[in-house]
Amino acid sequence: MNAESMMAVVKARPEPGYDYTSVPRPQPKPDEVLVRIERAAICGTDILLYKWDPLAQSLIKELPFIPGHECCAEVMEVGAAVRSISPGATVCAETHIPCGGCYQCTHGLPHICKNLVLFGHHVNGCFAEYAVVPAKAVYCLTTGLPAETACLLEPFGVSLRGVQEAAPEGKALLVNGCGPIGLFAIAIAVRSGAARIIAAEVNPHRLKLAETMGAHVTVDARQADVRQAVLDQTGGDGAGCVIEASGAVGAVATCLSCLRKGGRIVILGNPKGPVEIRDVMPDLMHKELTLRTLHGRRMYETWEQVEALLADGIVDIAPVLTHTFPMGRIAEAMAAILSGEACKVELDPRA
Ligand SMILES: [Zn+2]
Ligand SMILES: [Zn+2]
Repeated sequence: MNAESMMAVVKARPEPGYDYTSVPRPQPKPDEVLVRIERAAICGTDILLYKWDPLAQSLIKELPFIPGHECCAEVMEVGAAVRSISPGATVCAETHIPCGGCYQCTHGLPHICKNLVLFGHHVNGCFAEYAVVPAKAVYCLTTGLPAETACLLEPFGVSLRGVQEAAPEGKALLVNGCGPIGLFAIAIAVRSGAARIIAAEVNPHRLKLAETMGAHVTVDARQADVRQAVLDQTGGDGAGCVIEASGAVGAVATCLSCLRKGGRIVILGNPKGPVEIRDVMPDLMHKELTLRTLHGRRMYETWEQVEALLADGIVDIAPVLTHTFPMGRIAEAMAAILSGEACKVELDPRA
């Protein structure tokens, strides 16, 4: 296979945009596997990289590189030291590549490894025909989940952990921000027995999707005051749990003001600026709240859980996937997202 080439999406220059071009096909090192990408999905960070946003710039090591981290792939070749994975296996890449030796890695928390290397950010990712992935960051699927669903396990895992931490059973849940992560969280919360799910969002397409996924109440945050809407829906108490999935400036403050005393708030959206708390005593200190942040999926318990939820048909996330483009039409795919029309968008490298 050596010296062969492949087509890939490449971030070549420190400016907005992606190229679609021919690059050498990678070769696996002894502890890596070579995979053929069946399907890849565009994540919020891939959009920031496309725009060349300062947050994205801070995440990457060098140019040029191949973005993308959400994928479903088939193993083509394994390095000499790889024992547990065989060619032909259907796999997903875990974005978080742990070092294996730091405090977190040796205490059951490799997903927040101190020396974390991020697939598709620090090393070449999956927006290509082929990719190499370290064997320790490969999740082998055990069901026949179709590629277009399997490639969403990675973000879906973040939503599942968010709902697990929010613990919405029998409570009112506010989901603030209805991008893919918030929408997945709504679908999981329905199955988790949330008493009332209130979804807040500024994009009308996404508000509709929130309804489709099972939100009981939708709040158009362009027009309505989210805090007032939540208080109205909860007899003036506030929501027992809140998932912040927008990353919007000021969103954490709004979410804190919506939380019932003694409630739980989970922050999933990467804040696009400093996080502020408006009224420190009523919104924070006197609430006796529990605040949780998350970074990725537990390896690999979360993966097993999300695969089972989707393979058993317990949660249906198909409505969130609004568009699929051949990978070569990456510019159109990005335009569909940036226009606000598309929600989750996938790329097919073989189309
Ligand atoms: Zn992602
Ligand atoms: Zn580590």
